[in-house]
Amino acid sequence: MPSRDSRQRILVTGGAGFLGSHLVDRLVAAGHDVICVDNLFTGAASNVDHLRDHPRFRFIRHDVTIPLSVEVDQIYNLACPASPIHYQRDPVETTRTSVIGAINMLELARRLGCKILQASTSEVYGDPEAHPQPEGYWGRVNPIGPRSCYDEGKRCAETLFFDYRRQHGLAIKVARIFNTYGPRMQPNDGRVVSNFIVQSLAGDPITLYGDGSQTRSFCYVDDLVDGLIRLMETPDDFVGPVNLGNPAEFTIRELAMRIVSLTGNSGSRLVSATLPVDDPRQRCPDISLAQAKLDWRPRVALEDGLMPTIAYFRDVLRA
Ligand code: NAD
Ligand code: UDP
Repeated sequence: MPSRDSRQRILVTGGAGFLGSHLVDRLVAAGHDVICVDNLFTGAASNVDHLRDHPRFRFIRHDVTIPLSVEVDQIYNLACPASPIHYQRDPVETTRTSVIGAINMLELARRLGCKILQASTSEVYGDPEAHPQPEGYWGRVNPIGPRSCYDEGKRCAETLFFDYRRQHGLAIKVARIFNTYGPRMQPNDGRVVSNFIVQSLAGDPITLYGDGSQTRSFCYVDDLVDGLIRLMETPDDFVGPVNLGNPAEFTIRELAMRIVSLTGNSGSRLVSATLPVDDPRQRCPDISLAQAKLDWRPRVALEDGLMPTIAYFRDVLRA
């Protein structure tokens, strides 16, 4: 438990989502007062239900596109649907959430004079020519495609963060998060790890989009949350953007085969489905900056993170 001086009041937007709820848990466990703001668009109240009666936790159901007034010392801005099927369901709202949501949270930080961290994404690199992707790479993003609401929304949010720093002197931090997985993903989330585990446990066909040769690098949620907190605690002159992800890179086909083997359900066969438009061909973070500035690197290997994730989905599907 931190002393009264180091105990912070912390706002986490998107705090009932997958990443947000794990971050909230860590901050509460570290002795801080945490306010979780979420409109439950893709998150679930059950993700934070265990904290409902906790004296240092408060849940506010609220949409970040509407201004908010709370008194806090730090803000983690995570509110935004992250799975392609969810962020493409109402693309205009996705852009509004990233852009207006960022403005509302930056205005709050400005009024309070507090630190604010943005959950940005590897999607700002689009379908990259540089590999692995360093922070200095400006990206290759289609501005008018079905993924653009998310990619360009997040890029604009980064712009806003840097302009609030230049124009108003705000203490900002920008994390570029690469594919992260773990317990509390929703079974209908639509992202690859949850889809493959749910399909494999049910003995259903595993849907490889395209031929499965595209790559991703998968980070376990505990490692990611550790990186976010380390970034928030860096001195004010370090703002990022900084990549947070696991540099171990796998093809989607390799991921499918590992999941089938770990669930012990070899009955599932791999089937090919349509590759989504603008699906990045390869993705892998260059994490040298995070290593140097945050003394951070992921600890959890893919198999070790998949096991508790599979156990979680087994429980969810049994319930
Ligand atoms: P998630 O969908 O589980 O969580 C997002 C949360 O934001 C949900 O609880 C949702 O209800 C909430 N939300 C959405 N729109 C909102 C709004 N207008 N007002 C208030 N709340 C709103 O996704 P996640 O994986 O936990 O992602 C969290 C953040 O991290 C997102 O900003 C996402 O872009 C970023 N990120 C995640 C990954 C990943 O692999 N998990 C990768 C890159 C970036
Ligand atoms: N993918 C797949 N089958 C699925 C879901 C996703 O082959 O059932 C692929 C998808 O085309 C992409 C990769 O897995 O190449 C990661 O997809 P996800 O939606 O998890 O994240 P993102 O594309 O945003 O990195």
